[in-house]
Amino acid sequence: MAMTNRHLVSATTCPYCGKFLDDATSIENQANRPKPNDLSVCISCGGYLVFDKLLKPIQLHDSDFEELPEEIRAAMRKYRKAILEMRRTDK
Ligand SMILES: [Zn+2]
Repeated sequence: MAMTNRHLVSATTCPYCGKFLDDATSIENQANRPKPNDLSVCISCGGYLVFDKLLKPIQLHDSDFEELPEEIRAAMRKYRKAILEMRRTDK
């Protein structure tokens, strides 16, 4: 089996698209494990997620997103765009 840097998280489905999610990969440092309140982007639909206390990715509400520092919001928009573009070229 190939080595991966994917880390198990509490299994759930994406609150936006229903994709089954049970692992996460840090974009900045693949050795990082997710922590509660870490932000994530659904690999299937680009939906904004945040890890709860049990490391379950849950919906990041628009009002919480708007309170994030601009550089974080810009990074998340960039990841969402990259995911959506990747999905488009998949088809
Ligand atoms: Zn999704």
